Amino acid sequence: MQLFRKELEKMKPYVPGKPIEEVKKEYNIETIEKLASNENPLGPSKKAIERIKAELDYINIYPDATAAKLRQEIALSHDVKMENIVLGNGGEQILTMIAQAFINEGDEAIMADVTFGLYKTSVTHMGGVPVIVKLKDHKHDFEGFINKINDKTKLIYVCNPNNPVGNIMTKDEIDYLVSNINDDIVLVLDEAYYQYAIKNPNYPQSLELLKKRPNTIILRTFSKVAGIAGVRVGYAISNEEICTQMAKVKGVFNINKLAQAAALGALEDKEHIENTVELNYKSMGIMKDYFENNNINYIDSNANFIFVDVNTDSKVLFEELMKKGIIIRPGFLWGMTNWIRVSTGTIDQTNKFVKALDEVLNNK
Ligand SMILES: *Cc1c(COP(=O)(O)O)cnc(C)c1O
Repeated sequence: MQLFRKELEKMKPYVPGKPIEEVKKEYNIETIEKLASNENPLGPSKKAIERIKAELDYINIYPDATAAKLRQEIALSHDVKMENIVLGNGGEQILTMIAQAFINEGDEAIMADVTFGLYKTSVTHMGGVPVIVKLKDHKHDFEGFINKINDKTKLIYVCNPNNPVGNIMTKDEIDYLVSNINDDIVLVLDEAYYQYAIKNPNYPQSLELLKKRPNTIILRTFSKVAGIAGVRVGYAISNEEICTQMAKVKGVFNINKLAQAAALGALEDKEHIENTVELNYKSMGIMKDYFENNNINYIDSNANFIFVDVNTDSKVLFEELMKKGIIIRPGFLWGMTNWIRVSTGTIDQTNKFVKALDEVLNNK
């Protein structure tokens, strides 16, 4: 008898990066700048910290399983009803909930390559078939997506902006996709980097799309711009029926008390978000200037990271940068050997990265 679910054979364990403390010891360096996970370089919102502190005395009590207050506030901020919001233990859990709620064995889900890895993993886990369409000119190939649609297609994933590439699919491009797919296919719009992307006037208004096309799921997270990746809160905005079904698989207390408190604080702190977005584009500007002055090819980004063609083995470059106290995400992880993904840091961190990159590329 086979002990484990057969799908697990197709799945690999997640390989985490080396812990910072270990890297410090190994290379004998004092400070490490982690520009690898698209976290907020300004830290968490002070309001989130205050809210967490206020909850500490009550952590003997179970959290509100429905997280009613938080869902209400999120709904209010998007002008929808709280029934249109379902919360996840990070956007990650939203993605596993989507696969759990929709995928039967043999069902197909269309997605890009490269893109966020969890679409494939979560669909595979449920016995579904990830249908992979290569990027075209570094963007989602929607014509390719449409050609793959058949009776088994349940889900279509669009990562917008696309992680790790950083570019967006425009409103016109999303409209083209939508007008060529049946309404019963569920369209998942992963907008983990929404607040960065809306700076671009061509970025689609997905909430308007949801009104016209109810079988749409919009994913957002508090991990990136809101700066509370460590406590894990993400959410989906969709029609009531989808939210109700998804909530059945969420786990009863999936958003713990401190996470609910932190998200409420972060939600209030508009200034923190504005400062973060402003810093992002300054920091991005520093990197783009350097790349342009040195004829280094990059993909224009609408997120808080940038995808760069370093024209050399990213595995080696990754090690060399680490010795200089900089951690980035090497592209070989996505089969893009000569590319790296770098998160924007503080101005200081970004300057340090540019200097280190320059030294490594030019053997200084
Ligand atoms: C970071 C990220 C998420 C979700 O992250 P969580 O920390 O689990 O909220 C989802 N999609 C993409 C594309 C991401 O980059």
